[in-house]
Formats: sequence, structure tokens, C-alpha cells
Amino acid sequence: MADFIQVIDPGHGGHDPGAVANGLREKDLTLKIALYTRDYIHELYEGVKVYLTRDKDVFVSLSDRADFANRLGADHFCSIHINAGGGEGFESYIYNGSYSSKPKTQALRNVLHDAIVAETKFANRGKKEANLAILRETKMPAVLTENGFIDNKNDADFLKSDDNLRKFALAHAHGLAKAHGWKPKAKPVTKSPTSRKVFYRVVAGSFADRENAEKRVRELKEKGLDSFIDVYRA
Ligand SMILES: [Zn+2]
Repeated sequence: MADFIQVIDPGHGGHDPGAVANGLREKDLTLKIALYTRDYIHELYEGVKVYLTRDKDVFVSLSDRADFANRLGADHFCSIHINAGGGEGFESYIYNGSYSSKPKTQALRNVLHDAIVAETKFANRGKKEANLAILRETKMPAVLTENGFIDNKNDADFLKSDDNLRKFALAHAHGLAKAHGWKPKAKPVTKSPTSRKVFYRVVAGSFADRENAEKRVRELKEKGLDSFIDVYRA
């Protein structure tokens, strides 16, 4: 079976920083979340190939991003953004037009949205629709996530930590996996210490001269016990 093709689209980049506030730039946060999401997906799930519309700080136009996914024949497109303009929490968007794959697009978005809210515990601002170019021009089911507000003190404090960006990334990976039914990779089998074979040696005496050791072996034999002499140097 062919690999599932997931495109992850880190918003903005290059001369377009996106929203800027609280010492943070949207383009840096979206890139990190996207890179971590790709790595988590490749690490955790089988049969999925993740492509990024950019993997460094460069400008890519919205049409070029959509064309890239269309040319790949991607199965799903997920654009990652950080919100601004007064508010707090997480929201997601799908295209608001009428199109045949809308029920599927909606269903996938709902699973992803709920997983991200559950894992990050961010305020749930709702499942939204909008006429956004990136969602309109992509031919496969597409979603755009707005991961907190860069101009909100609480959200910005959260987004300042790399560990928290990883939390958003892992939530995206888990949510996409749940939405698409990706199979987890088999964990490598490691032998636990308790499953190793253990042997016990019974010592029935320790002697400095061989004669006494042989005497003990004879005594044990008379009692019907098997024994042997093991030589070691102390
Ligand atoms: Zn944005």
C-alpha cells in the first residue's frame, strides 16, 4: 500500500514574520511546531510520509504552498499558525465554501481539533470556517490550526518554552493519527531483566586444600547429593 502523504505547512517565513508580540515571531513558532510534528509522526507511525512546505526561514507564497501539496497528490494538508488580535486559546479552520469533500474535511478536522484541545488544555475557541486561500486552493482535505495568541500574555508565556511547542507538535501528531487511523510503529523488543535466565550455585564449603574439598564431596555423595569441585584463586 502506498504511503499516506501528509503535508504540514508552517505559516509565514522569510520577510513575512506573521504576528509579532511579546518577543516572539509567529514564523519561528510555526516552523518549530511543524518540524517537531513531522519528527513525531515519522517516529511514531507506520506508512506515513510527511512533507513540509518549508523547513527553514524562507518566504513561500500561499499559491506555491497549495501547488506543492497538489502536485504531491497529498492526502491531507495541515497549516500551522499562531493567532493575534486579542483573544486566548486554540481554534481551527476549514474552507467555508461548498465542496464535495467537505463532510470528510469536517470529520478529520473535528478529531484533530478535539485531540489538540484535550492534550494542550488550551481554551477551546471553537471549530471555524473561513475563506482562506490556503484552504481554498488545496485540492485535498485541509485544516488550519491557530495555536494560541502571540499577543496574549498567558499564551505567549506558554509558547516561549520549547517543551510546550513540542506539546503542540505531539498533539498534532496524535490528532492526525487518530483522524487518519495511522498504525503505531511496533516498539523494539527489549529483554527485561526478569526474563533473563538466572542460575543459582549452592556452595557446601570452601577449602584451602584439595584433600578437605574431596572429603566433603565424598560425604555429600554418601548422603545421595551430587556435587563437584570448582577451583578459584582468591
Ligand atoms: Zn498566521
